[in-house]
Amino acid sequence: MKWSQTLIPTLREAPADAEIQSHKLLLRAGLIRKLAGGVYTFLPLGLRALRKVEQIVREEMNRAGAIEMLMPALQPKEIWEQSGRAETARDVLFKVKDSGNREWFLAATAEEVITSTVANEINSYRQLPKNFYQVSVKFRDEIRPRFGLMRAREFIMKDAYSFDTTDEAAQVTYQKMYDAYARIFERCGLKAFAVEADTGVIGGKFSHEFMIPAETGENEVVFCEACGYAANIEKASSGLPKTAARDAGAAPEKFATPGVVTIEALAKAPYSVAANRQIKTLIYIADSKPVIVLIRGDDQLNEAKFAGKIGTTVFRAATPEEIFEAMGAHPGSLGAVTSTRKTKDVQVFADERLRGANDMTTGANEDGFHLKSVSIERDIQVSQWTDLRTVTAGEPCIKCGKSLKIRRAIEVGHVFKLGTKYSEKFNAAYLDEAGARKMAVMGCYGIGVTRTLQAVIEQGNDKDGIVWPLSVAPYTVCITPLNVDQNNEAMKVAEKIYADLTARGLDVILDDRDERPGVKFKDADLVGFPIRVGIGEKSLAKGEIEIKPRGGALQSVKIAEAVDAVLKAAGR
Ligand code: ATP
Ligand code: MG
Repeated sequence: MKWSQTLIPTLREAPADAEIQSHKLLLRAGLIRKLAGGVYTFLPLGLRALRKVEQIVREEMNRAGAIEMLMPALQPKEIWEQSGRAETARDVLFKVKDSGNREWFLAATAEEVITSTVANEINSYRQLPKNFYQVSVKFRDEIRPRFGLMRAREFIMKDAYSFDTTDEAAQVTYQKMYDAYARIFERCGLKAFAVEADTGVIGGKFSHEFMIPAETGENEVVFCEACGYAANIEKASSGLPKTAARDAGAAPEKFATPGVVTIEALAKAPYSVAANRQIKTLIYIADSKPVIVLIRGDDQLNEAKFAGKIGTTVFRAATPEEIFEAMGAHPGSLGAVTSTRKTKDVQVFADERLRGANDMTTGANEDGFHLKSVSIERDIQVSQWTDLRTVTAGEPCIKCGKSLKIRRAIEVGHVFKLGTKYSEKFNAAYLDEAGARKMAVMGCYGIGVTRTLQAVIEQGNDKDGIVWPLSVAPYTVCITPLNVDQNNEAMKVAEKIYADLTARGLDVILDDRDERPGVKFKDADLVGFPIRVGIGEKSLAKGEIEIKPRGGALQSVKIAEAVDAVLKAAGR
């Protein structure tokens, strides 16, 4: 490709709304342009890099035995109602209406489409296992699209869906995908690591996310250097002991706490109730109904864990008015002790760390009063005991007891063991060898292809611009003749090397713009081509050209040896 024939609109400065380095560089290097918030056009260079990531993904998915297909982006609402996700995922779904007022959803993922297809087309164990994937546009109505391609409204995902006859077979497929993901990210030049993850609104039995360490990442990962335990903070647990049991009174005892509405205030004199002897009572509204959540006073609720327990992302903290209505008191004086509750049929979720705790203090559901000598098991009707707290750095590892650390990371991929959740909803059954009807055991596996592309840039850049790995660079080589006159020797040599390298299968761009060398070199560094070939009169006079790997040292090479030297630098 000749530079002048394509479109590479490089920018000196990034637009003000680009916050992180990779987003700035995507714009500055002329890879993408914003059409609207979270919606981007891929310019020619961006598309080339994207295609390379897609190609790696396809090769590794095919190698792992997955089969490519393409599913519609326009999905009838009915299949989402059938799976139950029209409700549980309603906040992220883009909805459109046709002229007949019928509702459609734009593809956010495709469990519904593939499972209903497989239910129709597969009916015997002989046709299993199968793993179908696609690389296609997805839409999500993100509350806060940001960071360019990282969190977009429209993006490209590789999504795969596996169908097995048994749980053990599904486990093998899961492991194959896990291994394929490790290879994909490695080939993209990324330092990815897998962590245990929350299954969220997709549901299922267990899952792993693939993470790229980055300060700008939107995820927090809890990990143990000693034993290798790693989990998303939305899922991580630690080995902290439960609340110590103590001698406590025979019944809760009310005491006046005028004006005390925080854990900290109650911890101070004259009350001096340590935060770890207090119960924090939080009120949420899920499906229009209040729900009580209890965690220890010195802990923080993890909303993602809670969301997993109530089975929907559609919940919110109750307003002070709703709280007063449900509890008869204001925030700061709330408690779940059954005898003090206005309404008894409210669900109570309690964090495991409180299990068995006694001699605790909590609000009395009366403004200005608290209860002490509360014994959870005796005084509070808990509907569900579960892990709800957020792990903090330094807590003991749940596996080995050593100190846990926390770091930020970008989620680029996610593998789920689904079980039969969707097979049952769509009747994806098969007949086994004995003729018995069984549900296919599913897994699903996503990679944010466009997010992965940006993660490559977030991990690979320096003060001059992008530093691409060879595998993903839009062009491997940029040839820069300093004089672009067709009759000039520099241009003739450039054309020859260009033709030879292209013939050898390298992706080469020839910067034929009539610009000052400084401008051309700056642009080449900004876009970040792994190898730059400089052709100027001075070195030509010595029968040489210059080869410079991105970020490496300049090397003079005889013209006759130029092609081999570039091939070598390109790892051929
Ligand atoms: P996140 O937690 O970042 O919102 P998710 O867990 O909802 O992502 P999945 O449903 O697991 O995402 O989708 C599979 C992959 O698609 C993710 O691992 C991520 O790489 C990518 N992805 C998800 N949402 C977006 C988005 N809004 N923009 C770009 N990529 C996305
Ligand atoms: Mg995910």
